[in-house]
Parts: sequence; structure tokens; C-alpha cells
Amino acid sequence: MTGARDLSLPREINDPAVIDRAHMFHPGTHLADFASGELPSQIITGGEGIYVTDRDGHRMIDGFAGLWCVNVGYGRTEIADAVHAQMAKLSYYHAYNGNSNEPAIELAGRIAGMIGLDMNHVFYGLSGSDSNETNAKIVWYYHRILGKPEKRKLIARQRSYHGSGVLSGSLTGQPGFHGLFGLPLPEVIHVSAPHHWLDAHPGETERAYSRRLAQELEATILSEGPETVAAFFAEPVVGSGGILPSPEGYWEEVQQVLRRYDVLLVADEVVTGFGRTGAAFGSHLYGIRPDLMALAKGLSSGYLPLSASVVSDRVWQVLEEGTRQNGPFIHGWTYSAHPVCAAAALANLDIIDREGLIENARDTGAYFQQCLREAFGNHPMVGEVRGVGLLAAVDFVEQRSPRQFFDPARRIGAQVTETARRKGLIVRSMPRIDGIGFAPPLTLTRAEADQIVDIARSATQEIAATL
Ligand code: PMP
Repeated sequence: MTGARDLSLPREINDPAVIDRAHMFHPGTHLADFASGELPSQIITGGEGIYVTDRDGHRMIDGFAGLWCVNVGYGRTEIADAVHAQMAKLSYYHAYNGNSNEPAIELAGRIAGMIGLDMNHVFYGLSGSDSNETNAKIVWYYHRILGKPEKRKLIARQRSYHGSGVLSGSLTGQPGFHGLFGLPLPEVIHVSAPHHWLDAHPGETERAYSRRLAQELEATILSEGPETVAAFFAEPVVGSGGILPSPEGYWEEVQQVLRRYDVLLVADEVVTGFGRTGAAFGSHLYGIRPDLMALAKGLSSGYLPLSASVVSDRVWQVLEEGTRQNGPFIHGWTYSAHPVCAAAALANLDIIDREGLIENARDTGAYFQQCLREAFGNHPMVGEVRGVGLLAAVDFVEQRSPRQFFDPARRIGAQVTETARRKGLIVRSMPRIDGIGFAPPLTLTRAEADQIVDIARSATQEIAATL
């Protein structure tokens, strides 16, 4: 025998980027480009405040708070401490059949107190998608208990995002989530989402446009048969479909239609909840009185996964009655009311309260929106700048008037996004509007807002110069 064989792995096999390409199945990713390396593996290794750092030490402002969820910013050791303490005390227990735990109880009361609106019961899950699955099942159960089992159809809106499960992905109004999966389910119908700048008739006011969309909703309910329509799912501000704040009068008009036909309203506040719009909830901002609400993201700022379906008193009474007639409400997850996730959420809400982050989203948000309008409002490549609170989008156009869009194959929004990243700013490429989206942590300062706008403007200039 000569010397021992060298059993250490070749260096490249220890390279996380190589293992990533070989073994990780990434969501929303071009698998072939990723496997070939054309789409690089982007490994983030650290986060502090509004910054994240990749493994090459490149430090970037996260202008999108992860996936618009890290509302309190990165590196909050007090959340880590709360998680550690809870894990050491009680790492897990289930919530079936009346079992409970202290942090989940405290958090339920806290959520109900923050929302108001006679919404007092909280069902926990782990993702925005599962909260909408739960909401849809509650809707179906509700109508059955009231003797209307034929009320099953769910209306959502084109452009909307409600998740990527079988039902929540059906509710999502974006074709990519449907075609190749054989979705949407037949129960789901989509109507227009409001996008005044893009879709209004020439000279049509926001109010008139809102009325027209409410009429479209009413016509859809009537043609489907109101006795078959169970609920309307909608985001107060359309998120990934383009960051579309609701136009004036929209919710007033829509809620009148829903009430007229006994159609429940599910407000998907997964993005808009917990201060993102400068109000605690989008429902507060727009005068929405939901029957059910979906929450996730900002509830725990993404420190641990947690979601909630919040039930109004009106719906709750029917659920209670249902169990009087039929026994337990048979729906739930192993990790419903996970105590460690709830402890993270409580520490997160403490930070939001103590640091006035909802007010900051309103005030610094207004400043940020103004800076964006100043930087981009008259830019020849920009169609519209819009947003509310710390939620904003800039759409690119080839020509402003008459309006002409870029060929989507030129990927202008994506190119600006890539250039901004090189310059130290993460924004979200929004291919559906050929634009870029912003949703920074709610801790944003004015100086940081200036930095974001400066980098975004310089990235836009750089791409504009190539055209
Ligand atoms: N609803 C909305 C409005 C969302 O933006 C999202 C996620 N982006 C979801 C639901 C689904 O949440 P999750 O990815 O946690 O399932």
C-alpha cells in the first residue's frame, strides 16, 4: 500500500453555488438557466437594518425588504432572544381540540386589538397561501351552515396575488400560476383589478372608473347567479401585480355590490398589513369592512413563518353554530399557533409599536413618494410613478404620449433591476408592468430614502443611455 487516498472533496463540490445549482429547486426560477449557471446563484449571508450582504461581501440596500416582509429590518436580536427563550421554555405544542399556548393567545388578542372592525378571532397558519386556503374553506362552510351550499364561486381579480397553492394559486390572477398546472379551479372567476393609469378611458375620473369596475363586478355576479357566488378576494393595494393603490371610491362602490348579493369580502392584507401603507391595515386606509382577512409577512417580519386568517364576529357566530350542529371545525395544520413563531411575532409587534414604524411608513413614506415623483415623474422613459406609504412602483414606457410600451423581450424593468443591484440597491423587477417596485423596511430614514432614489435613478439613466 502506498500513501492513504485523498478523500477530501474537490473544491468545487464544497462550493455552495455548485451545490445550489445541483440540489436546490428554487421557486419562481428558470430552472434550466439556473442549472447552466446563466442565472447566477445569489447567496445572501447577512442582514443588518435595511442592508443585506452576499457571500462576496457585496453590501446592498434591500429596497424590497426580502419579499416585502422584513418590516422591522434585519438583525433584530430582540426577536432572536424572544425565539430562543420560547424555544427553551416550550418549543412546540399543537392547538387542536382547545390546546393552546401563551404566546399564541397573547398574539391573537393583540392582532384583534390592532384590527378592530369587529374582527376578533384568529386562526393561525404559516404562509399567506395557507391563510387564503383557510379563508376559502371558512367561506364555504359559512354558506353551508346558512343553508346555501350552492354558494361556492370565488371572485378574485386579474393581476392579484393570493398565493400559489391549488386554491390560493387559482385565486391569484396571473396566468403564469395557472396554464401549465391546469388551474384555476372551476370555482374561481376573475374580474378586472383597478389600474387607472393603464385602463381608464380618456378623461375618466377615478370615481367614474371605480364605478365602472363595480358595475363589472355586479354584472359578473348576476351572470354567474348571485345564489352561486360565495366571496370576493382582494388586496387593498394590488401587490405583485403592479403595486396598484385603489382609486378613489373603489371600495365604497365594491362593498355596496357585495352586500347587495350576500357575497363575503376577504381582504388579503398579506402585504398591506402591519403598516406597509402607512396605516396599520389597508382596510383602515380605504374604509374596508372585511368578513375575513389574510395576514402574514409583516406579522413576524419574516423572522419565522406565520400567517393568520382573521374572522369577523358576523362570520364567527355562524362557525360556532356550525359546530353546535356538526361537531368540531375540522381544519388545521400541525403548526397552527406555533408558540415560537408567535413569540417572534410578539417581539416584532413590540418593535413596530415602540419605534412608531406605522407612523414612519406614513411620514417617511410620503417623503419617499415625493422624492420618487421628483426623480421619475418627468423622465421620458417613465409612464407612471405611484404608491402609498412604503410601497411604490415606477413603470417604464418607450414613449409617454401617445403611450407606447417597450417590447417585453427587452426586459427594461429587469435590466434596471440588475443595474441597481450592481450599484448596491435591491428593487423588485415587475415584469407585469415592465417596471420596478419598492417596499423597503418600515424603519427607513429620509437619508436612506434619498439613497434608494439616487441609485434607482442612476440605474434608470444607465439603461436609458443604452436605448
Ligand atoms: N397574498 C399576497 C397579497 C401576497 O403578496 C402573498 C405573497 N407574496 C401571498 C398572499 C402568499 O403568501 P406566501 O408566499 O407566504 O404563501
